[in-house]
Amino acid sequence: MDIRRKLDILADAAKYDASCASSGSATKRRDSRLGSTEGMGICHSYTPDGRCVSLLKLLLTNYCVYDCRFCVNRVSSDTPRARFTVAEVIGLTIDFYRRNYIEGLFLSSGIVGSVDGTMEQLVAVARGLREDHGFGGYIHLKLIPGASAELVAEAGLWADRLSANIELPTSQDLQLLAPEKTREDIDGTMNVVAEGIAEHAADRKAGLKAPAFAPAGQSTQMVVGATPTADGTILATADELYRTQRLRRVYYSAYSPTPHADARLPALRPPLMREHRLYQADWLLRFYGFDVAEVVAPGANLALDMDPKLAWALANRDRFPVDVNTAPRELLLRIPGVGVRNVNRILAIRRHHGLTTDDLRKLKVNWKAAAPFVLAGDHNPTVRLLDAVGLKKKLVQPTLFDHLDDA
Ligand code: SF4
Repeated sequence: MDIRRKLDILADAAKYDASCASSGSATKRRDSRLGSTEGMGICHSYTPDGRCVSLLKLLLTNYCVYDCRFCVNRVSSDTPRARFTVAEVIGLTIDFYRRNYIEGLFLSSGIVGSVDGTMEQLVAVARGLREDHGFGGYIHLKLIPGASAELVAEAGLWADRLSANIELPTSQDLQLLAPEKTREDIDGTMNVVAEGIAEHAADRKAGLKAPAFAPAGQSTQMVVGATPTADGTILATADELYRTQRLRRVYYSAYSPTPHADARLPALRPPLMREHRLYQADWLLRFYGFDVAEVVAPGANLALDMDPKLAWALANRDRFPVDVNTAPRELLLRIPGVGVRNVNRILAIRRHHGLTTDDLRKLKVNWKAAAPFVLAGDHNPTVRLLDAVGLKKKLVQPTLFDHLDDA
């Protein structure tokens, strides 16, 4: 099979992995002669559902001995198959990089032969790029859960980001749809990365010249909607991973039905809006100080018709209005339409003078969303507005996703 045909098959097969977005890293690799991960980072182009589109995104192979029911590359699928050699992936990456098509490589793989045999090849690509070609561009390597700790640790020396996919939110879901995968293997692999990152940080802190270890951290991906598991459970799993494995990102990927799919899988994909709401809720957990239970009840799904921050504010109207001139940071972060950057600026400005609605508009606060919930020098929404029965209707607007989901 010629390399162009392989590229068609293996780039297409990689599109199901959402976890390629990255903000890059500021690390300059010693001895690199080609490429850089600095500046604006690597992925600066995102589709509306959060997927990024600027790395050479490939599978080493889409042959796989596992039979994960939701995956088009499972052993029982009749999808066309292909397999790159290590040298071919290295050659393509260098070639595409020199032509300015890409800024780095995202490499994953189906499992061929053994877990360690596959992991060894993924590591060999990253090692070859760094050592033989002095490649300093961004590399995101997928880890095969259950691979030996030595291989995972070596992957951390060559890659900027590592990710082992958790795939499904609960062990029961894994048992049902990906029976060869276990939470223990996935957690074990993530642990090796978390420990490598922590050791590296400790060495640096102690003034030792430690080699870089996955400087852009680790991430994971969860398929959403392949089982009936609710958003509350999905977010609780994500929250646990952020806390225990110190992940940089959890990516949520709406299940896409594949041809001849298993009867246990739903016939339809979940609404794209569900994936979008999970990303918004995830953001609230990581940057806005929300607990999972505040965002969504256990066993419940997020509202699709409004963002989770607005949903929380409408359900907790007694906490508002919040005075932008006196409220602490954690309360400012709860105001709908006010982002983290807005809050930082509000805190800086109010050291010098009180804020008015004009100031808030200049800060590009989403005034329509914020107005019922804030007090400013010249603005008091009054209890009547905050308690208005029609407030939700006024604030909830149809979005692009509504049209996409209808299509
Ligand atoms: S191990 Fe990965 S590639 Fe193989 S069937 Fe499962 S999800 Fe697909």
